[in-house]
Amino acid sequence: MRAYAFPAYDTPVFKAKTAAVIGGGNVAMDSVRTAKRLGAERAVIVYRRSRTEMPARNEEIHHAEEEGIEFQLLTTPLRYFGDEYGRVRAMECQKMGLGEPDASGRRRPVPIEGSEYTMEVDLVVCAIGQSPNPLIPQTTPGLKMGKWGNIEVDWATMATSLPGVYAGGDIIRGGATVILAMGDARIAAAQIDKDLRR
Ligand SMILES: Cc1cc2nc3c(=O)[nH]c(=O)nc-3n(C[C@H](O)[C@H](O)[C@H](O)COP(=O)(O)OP(=O)(O)OC[C@H]3O[C@@H](n4cnc5c(N)ncnc54)[C@H](O)[C@@H]3O)c2cc1C
Repeated sequence: MRAYAFPAYDTPVFKAKTAAVIGGGNVAMDSVRTAKRLGAERAVIVYRRSRTEMPARNEEIHHAEEEGIEFQLLTTPLRYFGDEYGRVRAMECQKMGLGEPDASGRRRPVPIEGSEYTMEVDLVVCAIGQSPNPLIPQTTPGLKMGKWGNIEVDWATMATSLPGVYAGGDIIRGGATVILAMGDARIAAAQIDKDLRR
């Protein structure tokens, strides 16, 4: 959206003083380090379990620590406070303990009553998993969707249930990788070429 060309384009990258990133995965590490590099004085990971349970790769966590990222572990956000412009100004957090392992095998975070505190923030990024944008399924009758809101395709051709419509990448796989998206696109392109020659 040409954020780099602000003010010619009305889509600036917002530069935070204190950025909080919720989550403990690779996307969280990426986001918090990006916020820091964009000039945030404080860039903070807020994660509800401990470092041991963090799903991010070890080197990602290590590099974030090296880069001066603050970690508020065993902490979960409860609510956000906004200002009159609808911009976030603060976040209420609660400290967590660890209970028995849950279905994922990781110890379950348990809220500690009375441990609530407020943290001033002017940017919050929620990096707690991704789900597909529901706009396309809602506006495209006949497009077959999976139960997680992903578009269903024939994996050999990337063709969807609608003739002439192909899909690939995260919208069919859930959050995945660039290389898988590119591979899907190659399969789809080859099939489109074949179909157009029929
Ligand atoms: C913070 C972060 C870090 C990541 N780091 C890595 C990494 O290091 N390595 C890696 O391999 N992967 C990484 N990923 C995952 C990777 O970005 C995705 O797997 C990849 O971008 C998927 O490509 P895609 O083309 O399927 O979807 P996207 O890149 O999401 O592209 C979809 C496009 O469709 C547009 N769109 C959506 N709805 C509509 C509509 N109705 N009409 C028109 N356009 C629409 C969107 O604006 C978007 O531009 C990361 C993801 C995140 C969020």
